[in-house]
Amino acid sequence: MENTLHIIGGGMAGSEAAWQAAQAGVQVVIHEMRPTVETFAHQTGNLAEMVCSNSFRSDDDEQNAVGLLHWEMRQANGLLMEMADAHQLPAGGALAVDRDAFSNAVTERLRAHPNVRVQEGEITDLPTEGHWIIATGPLTSGALAQSIRAETGADSLAFFDAIAPIVYTDSIDMSQAWFQSRYDKGDTEEERKAYLNCPMTREQYDAFIDALLAADKTEFHEGETAGYFDGCLPIEVMAERGRETLRHGPMKPVGLTNPHQPDVKPWAVVQLRRDNALGTLFNIVGFQTKMKYGAQTKVFRTIPGLENASFARLGGIHRNTFINSPTLLDDQMRLKSRPNIRFAGQITGVEGYVESAAMGLLAARLAIAELTGKTLPPVPATTATGALVTHITGGAEAKTFQPMNVNFGLFPPVEGLKGGRRGRKDRYKAYTDRAKADWTAWLAG
Ligand SMILES: Cc1cc2nc3c(=O)[nH]c(=O)nc-3n(C[C@H](O)[C@H](O)[C@H](O)COP(=O)(O)OP(=O)(O)OC[C@H]3O[C@@H](n4cnc5c(N)ncnc54)[C@H](O)[C@@H]3O)c2cc1C
Repeated sequence: MENTLHIIGGGMAGSEAAWQAAQAGVQVVIHEMRPTVETFAHQTGNLAEMVCSNSFRSDDDEQNAVGLLHWEMRQANGLLMEMADAHQLPAGGALAVDRDAFSNAVTERLRAHPNVRVQEGEITDLPTEGHWIIATGPLTSGALAQSIRAETGADSLAFFDAIAPIVYTDSIDMSQAWFQSRYDKGDTEEERKAYLNCPMTREQYDAFIDALLAADKTEFHEGETAGYFDGCLPIEVMAERGRETLRHGPMKPVGLTNPHQPDVKPWAVVQLRRDNALGTLFNIVGFQTKMKYGAQTKVFRTIPGLENASFARLGGIHRNTFINSPTLLDDQMRLKSRPNIRFAGQITGVEGYVESAAMGLLAARLAIAELTGKTLPPVPATTATGALVTHITGGAEAKTFQPMNVNFGLFPPVEGLKGGRRGRKDRYKAYTDRAKADWTAWLAG
């Protein structure tokens, strides 16, 4: 088998992957379809184009999980972080960059690298031979998406995300909420208590519907047609169809008894379902939404039990091609059915420029090890990179898998620290200290 690494897609993930491999002495071909074939969001033929905001978000590596991911990529000599640092713009604690200068610089560095060749053109079929990383992102071309679908099955490739907000479990007020599955369904105690329930009185429900209807909403981007499936309508659209729709849909109060007030029948119930194996995150069932972020926190904190909720991520609906990584990928990011192919970037079900680049970095390091006959120890789940890859390749619930930003809810808890909002600062510092030590040791091999 030839020892060239082929990367499909020269976006955030593909560019970082190419750099890592080329620097390790591996010959790389980046197959990029732009500018021959365009997407509705990209504007140039550059590698690593930022399609929307020009921010890499928080650069705080002690208190923020994305800031920690920056730190880890810098330690691993990541090209995207080097170029982001070189072209940053003033933005308080965030890392904002001059998008054109950034992508021009990434493109120049990769094109000038003796081990990198950029081949223009769309790849339309899943490759059968050689070493490949697929990093074609949320706007993967239709032909390649169909080919992936043919390999993985229709249920394993999504074209839209429909994200319900995710809440940190330790920020839910358990003096109001309770664990119970509808009609106590399930064979085990764990299954019978798989959901968290937040009850509402009639007045609370009415106020909630009014707030939903009045909230600011985001429009779809041009060219990004909605195409909602009836199964994942935004909650505000359900509320527009009738004030009672939600009470007969995701908020129906049946099959549940509130142990805090057993004699009072709730008028409606908001249910939250476990989102990761660690049990640190719960998603609000059926609450995918196009409300603006500020409106979401305001409206969702009116739900009894969620008044002090901290959100690991807020809801959204976007055009987004992604695979069901928890079922399809092994812990080396390889497609189980075709191990010569790795996936990286947003198509694996991570979300955001930084997370995508980090998954490119990791996929390349795993591929390099394989190509050079080395064995890499597993990346520790205590690091930001490790927490993300552990989530997508197994920690996440496969049935309800939706794209995820990096956040501390994905990290194994540090024992002996105070929970809730009060202990947050110390907890986050402990997570980032532990991550830095473990990442440094992992990089040292
Ligand atoms: C409209 C929109 C707005 C977004 N806004 C933000 C934001 O503000 N902040 C943020 O952090 N994230 C945002 N995202 C998500 C963002 O796209 C990703 O975070 C990031 O770009 C993903 O990196 P990636 O490398 O996986 O994909 P991309 O950066 O999209 O790179 C994929 C590359 O693959 C190429 N490609 C696709 N199919 C083929 C093919 N068959 N053959 C060859 N090449 C192919 C594409 O041309 C592209 O260059 C947005 C996404 C969209 C769609």
